[in-house]
This record gives sequence, C-alpha cells and structure tokens, in this order.
Amino acid sequence: MSEHWVGVDVGGTKVLAVRIDEAGDVEATATRPMPGRAAGAEAVEEAVALAARDVYGARPPRALGVSAAGLVDADGERFLFGAHLPWRDTPLRRRLAERTGRPVVVDNDANCAAHAELLAGAARGVRSALLITIGTGIGGAVVLDGRVVRGAHGLAGEFGHVQVVPDGLACECGLRGCWEQYCSGRALERVTRVALGRHLDGPEVTALALAGDEVALQSFASIGTWLGVGAAGLVSAFDPELVVVGGGVSAVGDLLLGPARTAMRGSLQGTAYRPVPELVPARLGPEAGAIGAALLARDGRS
Ligand SMILES: [Zn+2]
Repeated sequence: MSEHWVGVDVGGTKVLAVRIDEAGDVEATATRPMPGRAAGAEAVEEAVALAARDVYGARPPRALGVSAAGLVDADGERFLFGAHLPWRDTPLRRRLAERTGRPVVVDNDANCAAHAELLAGAARGVRSALLITIGTGIGGAVVLDGRVVRGAHGLAGEFGHVQVVPDGLACECGLRGCWEQYCSGRALERVTRVALGRHLDGPEVTALALAGDEVALQSFASIGTWLGVGAAGLVSAFDPELVVVGGGVSAVGDLLLGPARTAMRGSLQGTAYRPVPELVPARLGPEAGAIGAALLARDGRS
C-alpha cells in the first residue's frame, strides 16, 4: 500500500490539515477551529491530533509535520513563543508524538511555506529565494543553496520585526517602528482608516481596491512601497534569485506587487549594473504551511 504523510498548520484562527502522497500531491484537507491561546496547550494539541485524524482516518501516516506560527528552536524540539498560540518554551515535538503515536517534525510556519514553495510552488528549481508572507503581520524565510536557513537558534527570517523607522509606530512585540507596522494587514487597515475616517477590514479594502476605489488603491500603494523598501534591504543582504510574496494581503496581486517592485528597484544600489531579482506571488495559497509541514515530515527536517 502506498505511503502518505500529514501536515498540520496551527494558526491564530484555524487548524488546517493536509494529507500528501509520495509525490507530494495533496489527497485530502480538513479544517478545525483553533481553540484559541486561552484554551490552553492541551486543547490546541488535541485539535492538531483531531485535524490530522480527519485526513488520515484509519490509515496512520508515516509521519506528521506541524507548522506553527511562532518561534521554533533550531532542533525543531521546542516551540518557544508565538503571540497567538498557547505554548511557551514547550517540548512540542515530543508532546505531539506522544499524543498521536507517530513520528512528528515541527517547524515555523513561514519555513514550512518556503519548503513547499521551493519544492512545488513559485520557487521550484530556484537555489536562493526569500519568502515574505503578509497577513496580520509579516512572516519570512530565507532559502540559500536550496535549503531553508534557520540560523544559530532556529530564529532566522523574522523579518516583520526588523526596525525600519526609529521611534516609529508601537508594535505588539514591544518594540517601535517594526516593518510589519507599515506593511501588513493591520497597516493596510490603519492607513485606510486615516484616509477615510472609518474602519474597514482587510478583505473590505481589498474588494474596494479591486473595484478601482482610489483610497483603497492608495492604501495598497503605501504598504506596497514599504514592502519594496524592506525587500530591497533583504535583497542587499542575501542576493536571492527570487522574492516570493505570500499571505492573505498579497491576494490583491499587482496592486500590491507593482508599487513594491518600483520601490525595491528604487532602494537598491547599482540597479543599472546588477541583476534585480523578480518579485512574484506565492503559488500555494493558504495551504502552503500545511503542505510544507507534510513535505518536511516526508523529507526530514534538514
Ligand atoms: Zn515588532
């Protein structure tokens, strides 16, 4: 009988599971509500196990991958911190392995998404790339020489909290002027509120922008410009072949990526004399983290 693997993405609002076959193709998906940070670790771990069970039924997978929004240590053993998740320096890999009775690998959600985009998405065949995911905040991953780079402590790629404005806007992380305060779903809402004088949520601003509304287009131009400025800094640091932009806010496409490309080019030195990487949309959508986790379960965490 053919083998299969399961990936589960644990985000702030939902737990999403996918089952993949040996080729990496998705065979089944399932979603469960995220019990919430306040519900505690046990409740969230149970939701992970149940979502996994939803996609594998009576045939347990060879291994289980878990993609989690937050800081995961270098060995993939401990979940250190995530604003929307209940674990604090918790031995998550072992706890989930005990609960499910299967081998488990754990990684940061952006690292998982990067692994998926690298193997089966926008960065297929690319040796060096940056992934920038724009949702409520900014997530990121660095791919060099065909591998996701995790850093000395597993914490590389936290682009959202790079300071871009000294003494700038206050961030949930406690710092000021973090990049995600200027380029994120929250930033989109803030910029729109300032221009309109009333609150609209991200999907509403997106719908207006797609309908050609001038204020909404300006909001996307603002966060797109910040996206390009920040991306240019990362391109200067890593010299990637490709910059892949994912996350819910990027669903608007070129209304965001157009201003970003212009700003990125304008913020890089020597553009007439150097290759400027393409800035492209991610391909795997909201399932990227879960698919990447399943692929890591299949391939092992390198
Ligand atoms: Zn911050």
